[in-house]
Amino acid sequence: MITVVGSLNMDLIVRVPRFPEPGEAIHGEDLQTACGGKGANQAYAVARMGHPASMVGCVGQDGFGEAMLANLRTVGVDTANVQQRAGVPSGTALILVHDTSGQNEIVVASGANRTLTADDVRAAADLLYRSDAVIAQLETTLPATQVALSLARAAGRLSVLNPAPFAPLDDAFLALCDYLVPNENEAARLVGGEVCDLASAARAAETLRARGARNVLITLGAGGVWVDAEAWRGHVPAFAVKAVDTVAAGDTFIGAFVTRLVEGADLRTAVQFGCAAAAIAVTRPGAQPSIPARQEVDAFLLAHRE
Ligand code: ADP
Repeated sequence: MITVVGSLNMDLIVRVPRFPEPGEAIHGEDLQTACGGKGANQAYAVARMGHPASMVGCVGQDGFGEAMLANLRTVGVDTANVQQRAGVPSGTALILVHDTSGQNEIVVASGANRTLTADDVRAAADLLYRSDAVIAQLETTLPATQVALSLARAAGRLSVLNPAPFAPLDDAFLALCDYLVPNENEAARLVGGEVCDLASAARAAETLRARGARNVLITLGAGGVWVDAEAWRGHVPAFAVKAVDTVAAGDTFIGAFVTRLVEGADLRTAVQFGCAAAAIAVTRPGAQPSIPARQEVDAFLLAHRE
């Protein structure tokens, strides 16, 4: 079982020919809605990889909340520990996707995600203790995230933090992470430098490990992943695909990577599996709708074997 402690957001997506300037209105394509939120995406990805998944989080008592819970349940995610909070809207993300490059600009209205407390997570302690791995992000609250990682650690479970969106983290927080998985932008901001190539990613990963993270994986978009771990250090390239929408690339990577890791794969194999799942996801629009099933990832890996 893998438990994800994190956010659930309804994504409101518009494809645009270019990003608008401040004060400018432009025409996009028709609105699309899709279930998202980093936490929910990662739980969804774990379940799609065929692994038991559960989620700890918070939605509002509204249509978006109902729809997000129903969507997680369709793939078998246990949502018994997702609170439905009165008086606060479900989390929502406003997403612009660039028509040709697949790049995105996102504004998140946190809503119910912001109300997840450390006590809510403590109330799910039994679930965390029973999990092989606990995955968290920074889209809810820092105290809730910190308790999730601490409980996982205390029970000898694998603690995984995707430090997204960026927030400053002290060394004690980093020391709670068996795996710290930032993208290049988050890694750069965590170390207060630049991450633009493998050499700078290697330096950032080294710094983050020196500050306490046990293993560091920096995802580099189409550049793949820089891995600095106890077991192995090196670069895993991404698969060459035509990206149409990179929303949830990192979430798909993490869900698939952690699944393969708790299944007992060696680190490099698990990272390659994560990259394959994410490569498929970027060829499809939307967050959760873009996340492939296990069989698709296995078939993709077979087809791309060198
Ligand atoms: P995030 O979505 O958190 O910003 P990244 O953009 O770094 O994360 O993507 C995570 C992973 O998804 C990458 O390490 C890579 O394996 C895969 N990926 C992302 N973009 C592409 C792409 N254009 N082509 C192939 N794989 C990609």
